[in-house]
Amino acid sequence: MSAENDATPIIINGKKSSQKIRDWVKIEIIKLRESYNFIPGLAVILVGEDPASKIYVNNKEKQSLEVGMNSWKYRLPAESSEKKIIDQIHKLNSDDLVDGILVQLPLPEKSSASERLIISEINPDKDVDGLHIINAGKLVSGENGLFPATPSGCLHLLREYFSDLSGKKALVIGRSNLVGKPIANMLLNQNCTVTMAHSKTKNLINECRQADIIVAAIGIPEFIKSDWLKKESIIIDVGINRIENSNSSKSHLVGDVDYQGAIKICKAITPVPGGVGPMTIASLLLNTLKAACVRRNLEPPIFDFTS
Ligand code: NAP
Repeated sequence: MSAENDATPIIINGKKSSQKIRDWVKIEIIKLRESYNFIPGLAVILVGEDPASKIYVNNKEKQSLEVGMNSWKYRLPAESSEKKIIDQIHKLNSDDLVDGILVQLPLPEKSSASERLIISEINPDKDVDGLHIINAGKLVSGENGLFPATPSGCLHLLREYFSDLSGKKALVIGRSNLVGKPIANMLLNQNCTVTMAHSKTKNLINECRQADIIVAAIGIPEFIKSDWLKKESIIIDVGINRIENSNSSKSHLVGDVDYQGAIKICKAITPVPGGVGPMTIASLLLNTLKAACVRRNLEPPIFDFTS
């Protein structure tokens, strides 16, 4: 059993941090409009009718409009051919008003289109989801580029609450292209000593016990137990798992970490909901702002985490 923490843990507030980012983006967009007479714009392609994807896309549209960005939504039927989706991407690639393009993933099960191929057709300069192989390569090489929104949101939170991550032992659990791999590279670029774990990792408990920072991106409810944690560690819980309530038709969300147990051990933790989740769209807006400036050869404004 890990020793309990000496102080009250910090509950990392993603709602507050994401609001700060959105307020800042809003001001930067006004400045761009006044100085250079353009408004950044985000185009989202939604294939099919998946209810969760529709909610995500609507939220992206709503938050883009709230910060004063242009927002376009393109809805294609679930059975759309790969060519049809790629044709839409090509139109957006050559549309000068569009700064960011994203295809809401996953594609519907019945779609025959390859996600990898679809992503590869997005102009890397407009790839605000950061999934194009050019942007993935830039991240691995430590170069500037557009990087995936959820891991960027995790890094924002870590840098806002703990400015210097240098030398910390970070354990990333999960190796998806969307979360695990990019956050591992981001932490490496912050001079952390990074270990990556996945379903074939032997003795995960031992890895957890040595980690100063754990980023859990697994997708298994409350998988990480509190007695696996090092005292005073920092926990970033990316998992979003919906649990049906046993005595009603309602449900609630939990992360990949046993939150109630972890808060007795750790130094800081992101709650689910209200931790990493709200940071994703805020980071997407930051990426769109950056893409809009870089495309016009303007120095992109940099959000100050410490403000
Ligand atoms: P994913 O593609 O399914 O990847 C899950 C990873 O977890 C895989 O690398 C898998 O290992 C690893 N894993 C599975 N079982 C494990 C075990 N027993 N021990 C150690 N590792 C194990 O998922 P994802 O897209 O990265 O998402 C992960 C979670 O984050 C999900 O709950 C998702 O809903 C959430 N998420 C949240 C946001 C947000 O906005 N907050 C955004 C994206 C995702 P293998 O590679 O060996 O199979």
